[in-house]
Amino acid sequence: MDRNQSALQELRFIMGLETHAQLKTKSKLFCNCINSVYANDLPPNTAICDVCLGMPGTKPRLNKKAVEIVLKIALALNCKINKEFFFSRKTYFYPDLAKNYQITQYEIPVGVKGYVKIHVNNKEKIIRIKRVHIEEDPAKIIHRKDYVLVDYNRSGVPLVEIVTEPDFNTPEEIRAYLNKIMQILEYIDAFDSSKGTFKSDLNISIEGIGERVEVKNITGIKEVEIAANYEIIRQKNIILRGGRIERETRRWDESKNITLSMRKKETEEDYGYIFEPDLPSIIISDEEIDTIKQSLPELPDVKIERLMREYNINRKLAESLASEKEIADLFERCVKREGISIKNASTWVGVVLRKILNYNNLLYRNSGVKDEWIIDVIKWYEEEKYNDYNTEMIMRKIFEDVLPPEEIIKKYGFKEKIRDESLREIVKKVIEKYPNAVQDYHSGKEKALEFLVGMVLKETKGSADPKLARKILLEILRNK
Ligand code: ZN
Ligand code: MN
Repeated sequence: MDRNQSALQELRFIMGLETHAQLKTKSKLFCNCINSVYANDLPPNTAICDVCLGMPGTKPRLNKKAVEIVLKIALALNCKINKEFFFSRKTYFYPDLAKNYQITQYEIPVGVKGYVKIHVNNKEKIIRIKRVHIEEDPAKIIHRKDYVLVDYNRSGVPLVEIVTEPDFNTPEEIRAYLNKIMQILEYIDAFDSSKGTFKSDLNISIEGIGERVEVKNITGIKEVEIAANYEIIRQKNIILRGGRIERETRRWDESKNITLSMRKKETEEDYGYIFEPDLPSIIISDEEIDTIKQSLPELPDVKIERLMREYNINRKLAESLASEKEIADLFERCVKREGISIKNASTWVGVVLRKILNYNNLLYRNSGVKDEWIIDVIKWYEEEKYNDYNTEMIMRKIFEDVLPPEEIIKKYGFKEKIRDESLREIVKKVIEKYPNAVQDYHSGKEKALEFLVGMVLKETKGSADPKLARKILLEILRNK
């Protein structure tokens, strides 16, 4: 490693995030139009009205439910709540907001000074939340070759914007944070990741020597991590060539996975915020804050710690179980009400079910699968009715076909576990059928045994327990 490279290794990056999430409400933030993000396949420009089209003379009317959700979010992120807050207009000229300004919050947001805990490489880290505020989503702009299309369905959809302090040092921390935020939002029913999206602006600088670069509009979670990695390499290369990092705004090109320069030197003040005169100030009482606090469910961090303590399981397993509130509930129901052992419940729910959901890119809560179906399958496993392999296959098919286990078993013909005696008969048959393999085994070829085990499993169509098959095979072969 030459001197330049080792100097590069020393560079420390500091990063912060501004993340927008589309709130799970029935209607938009300032009108009665349906929240198109959470409605299915609306044709373009059908969830619109005079208000969200910014027609002259129209006035916004605040959706109280959206305010309540943002208060919940701010409290779940340990923020202090401002007891009086108001809205502002952020001026800009672009067809995605027909009013030519966005209604947002600037001076006094809903919540300030919160934090979330993340875990990266077995280490806990606190990420400070600077502010949490409400604003409206702009319309969707679709760029075509010679023209631009605008779909105003999204215009006015309620957003929460969550701004962190520059507390991230690595892209992995960013991913852990965004996953944690998404999880918290889903726990309190503020967001649904199967419909809504996360959109983040990333600011990144090299500690001590670089100016702040902002990368705008990165959709998703994985994508922010990729963008951060890209920027780190780009900025390191500039330093390596003896260049200087300038303050600028860049955009993320998700088709090429690169950041591109948009404009230099821009600050928030350049937007010319003014007070929104058409909306009243919101005043929140201590009682209201208390009521909302009481209504919050057990949040992920608390749940993970409790699961570890109460069931004596490790963090990884507890995190996997707590990944969705509904999965943790299923696990606890298995153990507390269904009498299933902690070991079987945590393996089948925390490991296998989790794996099946990941593979199918599915949330348990949206899967259509009933708790009872999974509970039956685990109980049958405990009764040794089905072996490991078939239990997992039945579960997989339950999620693929969204049918109860009885129907899955009938449909695919899953066989019950073969008990000792009948398995012994099958083993004897296989030994007679393959005398050469038996001879090979006796002359010391280990592979012959694997072959015979394989043949036994084939005969039983996978319903035998491989360990038991091997045990019986060895017994009979040794007595020959
Ligand atoms: Zn509208
Ligand atoms: Mn914003």
